[in-house]
Order: sequence, then structure tokens, then C-alpha cells
Amino acid sequence: MINWEAHACLPLNGSADFAPIDRLRAAGVNYVSINVGMDMNPLPQVMSVIAGFRATIAAHPERYVLASSVDDIERAAAKGILAVGFDLEGAMPLLEEPRMVALYRELGVRQIHLAYNRNNSVADGCHDVERGLTDLGRRIVEAVNDAGLLMDCSHTGRRCSLDIMAVSRKPVIFSHSNPLALAEHGRNVTDEQIRACAATGGVVCVSGVSRFLDSDAPTAHDVARHAAYIAGLVGIRHVGVGLDISFAEPGLDDTPPGDFDPTFWWPKSAGYDRAVARMTYTPIDTWRELATALQSTGMTGDEAALVMGGNMVRVAREVWH
Ligand SMILES: [Zn+2]
Repeated sequence: MINWEAHACLPLNGSADFAPIDRLRAAGVNYVSINVGMDMNPLPQVMSVIAGFRATIAAHPERYVLASSVDDIERAAAKGILAVGFDLEGAMPLLEEPRMVALYRELGVRQIHLAYNRNNSVADGCHDVERGLTDLGRRIVEAVNDAGLLMDCSHTGRRCSLDIMAVSRKPVIFSHSNPLALAEHGRNVTDEQIRACAATGGVVCVSGVSRFLDSDAPTAHDVARHAAYIAGLVGIRHVGVGLDISFAEPGLDDTPPGDFDPTFWWPKSAGYDRAVARMTYTPIDTWRELATALQSTGMTGDEAALVMGGNMVRVAREVWH
């Protein structure tokens, strides 16, 4: 049984301490996807983050392994080692070049979305004008399928995400998105998006972010409530967990260099007026409480295990190669 954390954020600095990742491992997580860059992060920053995180993982083989396959994850879990993969939140680090997808695969990136909140030349962000997937975007979805990365539609515009799910030849996931029916926010996904995701064979992973759960101090029970909603809509096989816990490290700056304007990426009009820094996350210990919380919604133990990792294992076996 694998516990799969579909999205976590360390400071975007190659020197970031992996202590929070150790705490996830101690809480029972077997695989974690760690963010290595968003559309706001210029390529030199993304590259130095990947280099730094790879070095930290390589320096501690008794604690971490960069996973290429589900078999790697299962082997690591048997030895108490945490398997890690990287994810990109947006297509801008691809430099409008579909062949960059396979290069990132070589560097350890296992999951990618095509836009982060705002539109780019490839896809739409969820807090921007709706256009739909561009021609370049169609070629990049094909490259993502060919390279064997998980196609992720979190942070993506609604219409554009439906386009991506229609075009993708492989299951598509939402690595950290919650049902709009339970919490009104532009980052959350409609029933139509959840149904389209399930139709690809994919998984919607529930985030642990306060605003997206509509809870000021979110707990495992809030996550379970959102998971149960998705299961009720499309079935237990299409629900996962991506708590999106963002770990800050005092004294370590990861602000993108240059003219960085946070109000562009997290616009006030989309409800970020109280600043992103004030968002709260479910605690790491949510992972210890999740099985019980999921079962308190009426799921069996086996169904809770599918939500906590079994479903993402199934999708990764199909997508990664
Ligand atoms: Zn995100």
C-alpha cells in the first residue's frame, strides 16, 4: 500500500532543507511530488532548484530516491525510503519547445501543468481570460504523453482543461484541486471538469489549502469531505490526495528575480486579497489521520487506501514508462 502525496512545495531555492520532506515520510508518505518551478520562475532559477534538489536526494540514499517508476516507489517503500518526483507548474520553463518535455523527464520531472493561474502561449490559467488550448499547447500535450509525464490540470483555465483532457491520450490528473460545489473559488473545479478527468481514467487529488477547502483551520476531515464528494460524483477510483503544503524556511529567499509582481499571479479579483502568505494548510499529520477520516465518511479501508495512493499508483503505471 503506497501513500501518494501528489504535490508539496519547498522553497524554490536549491539549498532548501529537506526536513519537511522527512516529516512527510515520518507521517507515512511513500511518494511525494515536489514543485521545482512555476510560470513565474525564470529558467535559471528552475535549473538551480532542480540541481540542488537532485544533489540533496543523491547525498542521502538512505532517506530518498528519485523515482522513475512505480516499481522504484514500491522498492523504496519496502526499505522505509521516501520516493520523490518533481513537478512543474506551468509550461513557460519549456520555452515554447515541446522537445523540452523529454529533457525535464530526464531531470526527474514526472508531472506538469501547462499554465499557472495566468494565460501563456500554451494554455490558459484559471484566473485569466478563457481562450482554450493553443496549437502549441496541443503539441505539448502530445509531448507530455510521449515522454511519459503525468498531465496535470490544476491552476488551468476551465475550458482549456477540458481541451487538454479531450486531446490527451493518457489519463489526466488534477494534482491539487477541490470541488467547486463545496467551495466557491476560481482554483476549484466544476463537476464537468471532474467528470471529464474521470473519463480519461484520471484522478482529482484534494488539496489541503484553507481557502479551497472553505475551512479556516483545515483538518483531515475537511480533506475527507471533499474526497467523498468526488467519489460520490465519479467513483472511488478517481480520487487522490495532494495537500499542497507549502514549507517556508526562515532566512531562505525564493522570490523570483526581476520584476516579480505577486498580485499578477495571485490576483485580488480572484480572492487573494488577504495575501497568499495568509493561506493555511492542513498539518503534515493529516497523513496520519486520513485513513480514519476517510472511513468516517463511509468508505471502507480498501477504498480509503485507493484515495491515499492506490489510484495514483494505477495512473502512474499507465503514464510513466
Ligand atoms: Zn499549485
